[in-house]
Amino acid sequence: MVKQDNMKNIYLTFDDGIQPGTAEVVEILRKTKVRATFFLNAINTIYTSDKDLDMVTALFKEIQTEHVAGNHGFSHAHGFYSSFYSKGLLIDNNGSRRQAGDDFDHNYHFFRCFSSSDCLSLKQYARLPGRNTWNMLLHNEKNKQAVLKRIIDSDSASATLDLSKRGYHLFGWDDEWRMDFTIAQESRVSIEKKILESKIDFTDYQQIFPPVDFASDKNLMKDRLKEPWTEVARRVLSNPIRDIVLLLHDRAFRASQGNNALSDLESLIKYLKFKEVNFKAVDEYPLGYAIIA
Ligand SMILES: [Zn+2]
Repeated sequence: MVKQDNMKNIYLTFDDGIQPGTAEVVEILRKTKVRATFFLNAINTIYTSDKDLDMVTALFKEIQTEHVAGNHGFSHAHGFYSSFYSKGLLIDNNGSRRQAGDDFDHNYHFFRCFSSSDCLSLKQYARLPGRNTWNMLLHNEKNKQAVLKRIIDSDSASATLDLSKRGYHLFGWDDEWRMDFTIAQESRVSIEKKILESKIDFTDYQQIFPPVDFASDKNLMKDRLKEPWTEVARRVLSNPIRDIVLLLHDRAFRASQGNNALSDLESLIKYLKFKEVNFKAVDEYPLGYAIIA
């Protein structure tokens, strides 16, 4: 019993699915019997389901039953984070914008329609694209009261307050398994060039946030892990906090010949289990709830 109190909890959070790599990650979690959280985007899920609808339908069902499906916004800000947080998402060529909060609600409604289920977790747990922002009430074990945890990353304050009013708990991350983001950077450069040349139709999100061919030879080595699992394990074990939220991205684990990311993920999980670290999903995070007088 005493030992239980000293135990460390790790929350694996996988962002940007459902995308190439999600199926592989879910399989490792099944094999190692751990729960995790998937912060999902409609936009990537649509692109992935265009290729294999049955697989995506089955994956979403498994995530909902065995893990937690969280909300990562519909559009992933189309990769333009600062204008998304300061002005909203550009949705046509007349300057109309969708506010960040509406983008999250839009995402929740997408998954509700997609799965014909209530998708309540997508209305509760959220992560901002591109910003490590926290906003939630935490349960304080000592005085049994709810305390506010609010850490605002750069320009995301108004989006944070809006999402808070809409009832979302916003999760940032305490640590991440570092990877490169080459694909997103390359795509942004080419889109910015097209915008300058006025060649973009903003009503067509495939133009401003185009699907990526992860299977093409030129992309195989991009968006991959930059550090060994042993380094992540070392940091997690030496981190003094009890509940550690770790950021990962599904696509870093997409299977391809000669890439060990998947077996590295399995090694990380098995080693941390051996070190008696608990694996949890965000619905087990020590959230507090305000008592309404
Ligand atoms: Zn993301």
